[in-house]
Amino acid sequence: MTSILDDYAAVAGEDVIHHLQQLTENLRGRRVVHVNSTREGGGVAEILNKMVPLMEALGIETHWEIITGEEEFYQCTKSFHNALQGNPIDIPGHLLEKFEETNRARAEELRPLLGDADIVLIHDPQPAPLLRYMPNRKGKWIWRCHIDLSHPYRPVWKYLREFVEGYDASIFSLSDFAQTLQHPLYLISPSIDPLSEKNVDLSIDEVQRVCEEFGLDTGRPLVTQISRFDRFKDPIGVITAYRLARRFKPDLQLVLAGGGASDDPEGAAVLEEVKTAAENDPNIHILMLPADAHRIINALQRASDVVIQKSVKEGFGLTVTEGLWKGKPVIGGNTGGIRLQVVNHHTGFLVNSPEGAALRLRYLLENPDKMTDMGRKAREFVRENFLLTRQLRGYLTAMVALIHGLGERIVTA
Ligand code: UDP
Repeated sequence: MTSILDDYAAVAGEDVIHHLQQLTENLRGRRVVHVNSTREGGGVAEILNKMVPLMEALGIETHWEIITGEEEFYQCTKSFHNALQGNPIDIPGHLLEKFEETNRARAEELRPLLGDADIVLIHDPQPAPLLRYMPNRKGKWIWRCHIDLSHPYRPVWKYLREFVEGYDASIFSLSDFAQTLQHPLYLISPSIDPLSEKNVDLSIDEVQRVCEEFGLDTGRPLVTQISRFDRFKDPIGVITAYRLARRFKPDLQLVLAGGGASDDPEGAAVLEEVKTAAENDPNIHILMLPADAHRIINALQRASDVVIQKSVKEGFGLTVTEGLWKGKPVIGGNTGGIRLQVVNHHTGFLVNSPEGAALRLRYLLENPDKMTDMGRKAREFVRENFLLTRQLRGYLTAMVALIHGLGERIVTA
């Protein structure tokens, strides 16, 4: 084994790595390309940054390309994101034209690589039309949808489905998100990388230093939400929950830490709303972090007593897995992929309102033994279900099935 595979074996188990190697045998000499819309910020980039090197370590030729565009392209794709997660938004024709034109131009640039690749994994709607502009492609194309598609705004999904229908397969994170399509559907949940800066063990000193840097008192209780400033993440609801819980725990501190993803034009406006709601409370720490602040986020999660992810819509919620992996109970919005991870009363609590979040927060802070017990279960739950190695096993299974003609209608890999 190469050393990176040894490292994964030490955390995930040797049998897990052997299984990946066996699957890889069926992909010898094949070339795989991932395409998404950003190299940093957000869950998809987070996963690809780790999955691509792991695939290479297994001996699979793997490339990662992105599609970028002008402001109107991002306005359009952000509207897709909002509409596919349920907001009734009619997207103006000129934005759709920009979207298609950007994909057509990028397809020209990527033609030598994508046309010849054996497997192309297209992540989310932004690059979905690339397939349409690749008439003589050689390989199998998979559309990997990371977002909550359970109740899309129909006119927008109808438009996008036209692009997606030509694919050889789709992958969704949960069965709730799967849409009717005339090709094999795979259900594969996302994952975290246990070896990344975001998730490796840290010394107590390092955690302490980060707390000092941001003015946090490690002697007082702390609850943290790490998220892009996005309304679906409900940062205002988190502030409401914190205020309610603070009536019973007056020394409680709240961290809302986020940053901008380069494909998210709404972040600045939401950040302003959050600052207004915080009313200069010195115990609410709103942190704008650079995209590479992985160790800082790791330390903030470790310094927390409870991690919160009060999203009202969530494709999966990597921040939930990250919190669980650090042995923290997570209070999560009762939505999307959070439901897969927060096993109510075992790894945390699912909540439907700021009041519910406040109630659970207070309960946990008043029951430290329960908090420790839940945290222990949380970490093991992630080891079994949500490490990168398990997600890659799902992808490789789908690739092998498609290349060797074993595609079924719905497969849970
Ligand atoms: N993240 C980060 N910096 C930030 C905010 C988030 O590095 O300021 C990371 C976070 O730790 C997680 C990912 O970005 O790994 C967010 O993924 P998630 O699935 O929670 O949400 P998404 O942004 O994809 O909706």
